[in-house]
Amino acid sequence: MKTYFLPLLILTCLIQVGYTQNDTGRQCHIFYSQNTDSFEKWMGTQSRIKSSNSEEVYTIPVVVHIIHQGEAIGEGLNLSEERILSQIRVLNEDFRRKEGTRGFNNHPDGGDARIVFQLAQTDPFGKATNGIVRVNMNEREDPPFSGSMIALGAYYSFWDPSQYLNIWTFPGVQDFGLGEARFPISDLPGLEDEPGFSIPGIDSLHGVPVSEIDGVAVNAHHFGESNMDSKYNLGRTGTHEIGHFLGLFHIWGDEGFDGSCDIDDYCEDTPNTPARTSGCPQHSLACDGSPAMIENYMDYTDDECMNIFTNDQIDRMRTVLENSPRRNSLLRSPGLFPPDVVDTEEKYFPALRIYPNPASGQVYIDWQGMESYQAAHLYLFDLSGKMLLSRAFDIFGSEKIMLDLPSVGHQILLLRLVTENAIIEKKIVKL
Ligand SMILES: [Zn+2]
Repeated sequence: MKTYFLPLLILTCLIQVGYTQNDTGRQCHIFYSQNTDSFEKWMGTQSRIKSSNSEEVYTIPVVVHIIHQGEAIGEGLNLSEERILSQIRVLNEDFRRKEGTRGFNNHPDGGDARIVFQLAQTDPFGKATNGIVRVNMNEREDPPFSGSMIALGAYYSFWDPSQYLNIWTFPGVQDFGLGEARFPISDLPGLEDEPGFSIPGIDSLHGVPVSEIDGVAVNAHHFGESNMDSKYNLGRTGTHEIGHFLGLFHIWGDEGFDGSCDIDDYCEDTPNTPARTSGCPQHSLACDGSPAMIENYMDYTDDECMNIFTNDQIDRMRTVLENSPRRNSLLRSPGLFPPDVVDTEEKYFPALRIYPNPASGQVYIDWQGMESYQAAHLYLFDLSGKMLLSRAFDIFGSEKIMLDLPSVGHQILLLRLVTENAIIEKKIVKL
């Protein structure tokens, strides 16, 4: 049950020995505002009904920044593409509670979060990408600060956090935990000025104010599935950190590690426990004497024990995705798609423009100086391929036409313009 929550600037979720190859305890850091009460008030004002009823599957574009020390790709901590893909697969198995995988459960309070993760296909410059950035830290100047995997990762490489979920893998050192995450609160109404994250002496990195540095970091040893000798080798550190990124607290509540039964995680269906759990205990009890939910991804149990996000946790994550500005914008990111094909457009329609994009109500298509008639046909599709509009017209001279966008649903639309010489496709992002 909910009672109270004492805010902290930086929550250090460490109770056991810090990370080593022979690790003995899970450890993570969450960065969030001093004002978690405001966050909870904000959560309370959002439409939970919409969240719980929506069956829509949300896709989040991911960029994985591999920060390494000069190893060849696939060697040491310059993780192989196979290893990176294994982490994406684990995320999708876990968040979708996929049958036949470790992410499946049949717990009455467990659910399918209907959230999937995809490596980005277009980078911030509009170029094709595989969603993986590799940076040799030995070829860069040492950062003028230390202390956080997220801050250090962002120093080496960072993409627009409103368009991509940045995940850094960082070489593990003793002081770092298994992972770090930023909470989704930075620019919510009323919380704008809360100092959730700071780097002493540094105002911005890559042009982004430090307060807006966003994403999750995972100790490289524990990223994805591997055969390393560890209790944390099945990719669940990534699942856990992204849970924080989407608004989840630890299951025992976050005031200290061996706290009391008065502190909760704001989820009614996660049994209240006084402390984190480690290992895979068979008979751990909650405060009310019922079995503790040690299988929850937001506990500190071993990777092999975890397989549950509860319906209330899912409700929180989807509420954040639907409403928190820098999370919601991820769902409309150009990174979700391959780059637009522009060759034929430039060749046949040098002055063709489709704007504005993103658009709220209408888009305009204009052209100039076309010296010969071209019969054209315009189509609008949603991403399932369903045609929403079909319209024929002629292109000649200099003109523009207006197109009304559907008023409901379909956040991303595909506009296809077919002429005698070319097929032009543009993704229209609807605001
Ligand atoms: Zn955590």
